[in-house]
Amino acid sequence: MTDVAVAIRDLEVHYPLGRRLFGTAPVLRAVAGVTLDIPRGAFFGLVGESGSGKTTLGRAALGVAPVSVGQIRVTDSQGEVFDVARLDRETERRFRRRAQLIFQDPYTALSPRMTVRDIIAEPLELMKLCKTRDEANARVREIAAKCRLNVEYLRRFPHAFSGGQRQRISIARALVTNPDFIVADESVAALDVSIQADILNLLKQLQRDLGLTFLFISHDLSVVAHTCDHVAVMYLGRIVETAPPRRLFATPRHPYTRALISAIPSLDPENRARAERLTGEIPSPVNPPSGCTFHTRCPMARDRCRVEAPQLRVMADGHLAACHFSEELAPPGTTEPRSSQGAQ
Ligand code: SF4
Repeated sequence: MTDVAVAIRDLEVHYPLGRRLFGTAPVLRAVAGVTLDIPRGAFFGLVGESGSGKTTLGRAALGVAPVSVGQIRVTDSQGEVFDVARLDRETERRFRRRAQLIFQDPYTALSPRMTVRDIIAEPLELMKLCKTRDEANARVREIAAKCRLNVEYLRRFPHAFSGGQRQRISIARALVTNPDFIVADESVAALDVSIQADILNLLKQLQRDLGLTFLFISHDLSVVAHTCDHVAVMYLGRIVETAPPRRLFATPRHPYTRALISAIPSLDPENRARAERLTGEIPSPVNPPSGCTFHTRCPMARDRCRVEAPQLRVMADGHLAACHFSEELAPPGTTEPRSSQGAQ
């Protein structure tokens, strides 16, 4: 049986929008019923457009976004189970040590007034994890070396470093407390492409060497495909498809995934000509469409889609999709979907 590090059940995250004197106040449903298992040691990708709810899901898994409905359980490598929505002060202190976030933007995430040594050491000091300054320094040097940072530079300030080096500092800060579970939220999006590959390789190596479990959040399916063991695709607060990346690319079973794959830039003019374009904006999570929430943009939508919400169904081992007509989809870039609009 697979050892599950993060178990999410029927998760909903709601944000009430203001007050109304009469009637109920509108509610933004950022996450709308997500069930997900992240195996221990996995590099688990979560993709979707901006506004799909992926960042909120990652933050809920770290206990920094409110859980309105459902449950998140994180089990650390020593067997302690954290019920993330219901942490008391003492349990929260232990949880913060075991679950960490790597920020998106290495230019704004680091205080310009602190040295690299102090930035990395700060979580140790806030959580009182080292008895002496020498002990903290030794741990900072150890984790800096693991993140391929030159320890000679620990006395410098962040402005002296490039984007890739700053992201290494952010990673070292996240790992200094010896966590098990890392949420990396668009952690390479702000970097040049050549540096992205370098940071992704570093994250993969750290995952292997330290036995970390990653939730890797990205809007870029091509980045996720080359990095992750398993991928979940989110649309308007829901998981619409989940599969190992090779399978997801070869046989996507949701029209949204198919469109995301098709939109990956290609040097081949034929592929560019065949690319499917998603039309329209992602709808507001305050007032989502009825039935399948993708029906307002879906080229295969039919009457049934407007009234009946599809559930995640098993397509193959480890491959689930939430579409009434998944079986009709051909691989992207080959032929048109085998359906005809307006049928049924
Ligand atoms: Fe498109 Fe209908 Fe499938 Fe939704 S259920 S993705 S609208 S075909």
